[in-house]
Amino acid sequence: MMREENLDCIFCKIANGEIPSKLIGENEHAIAFLDLYPKAPVHILVVPKIHSENILLLDNSSILTGLFELIREVAATSTDGQFKLQFNTGEREGQSVFHTHAHVLSQQSK
Ligand code: AMP
Ligand code: ZN
Repeated sequence: MMREENLDCIFCKIANGEIPSKLIGENEHAIAFLDLYPKAPVHILVVPKIHSENILLLDNSSILTGLFELIREVAATSTDGQFKLQFNTGEREGQSVFHTHAHVLSQQSK
C-alpha cells in the first residue's frame, strides 16, 4: 500500500523531520541518511518520502526514478564507486523497518 504517511513508521517520521537523522542528501521524492547502526564503514539508507511497505509495493514510476537518482548520487559522492545495494524485503529476509529503503554499503568512502 502507498500512502502519504504511516503514523507509526519511523522512516516516515525521519522523512518529515519528526525524528532527527544525519542527512546525506535529498530530492523531491527521496531522502538519504546515515544508518544508526552501521554494518560497513559507509552505510547510508535511501528512502522514498511517501510510505510504502517494500519495493514491490512501490509502483509509482516518478518516485522510483527519484529514489534511484538519489541512490546513484549518494553512491557516487559518498563511496569510492564500489558498493553494495540491498533492499531487504520481508521479515524472513531481514527487513525490520517496513518502509521501503535501500542500503548503500561500502568499505571505502570517497
Ligand atoms: P532493515 O533491517 O533492512 O529493515 O533495515 C533497517 C535499518 O534501519 C537498520 O540497518 C537499522 O540500523 C536502521 N535504523 C533503525 N532505526 C534507525 C534510525 N532511527 N535512524 C537511522 N537508521 C535506523
Ligand atoms: Zn513510512
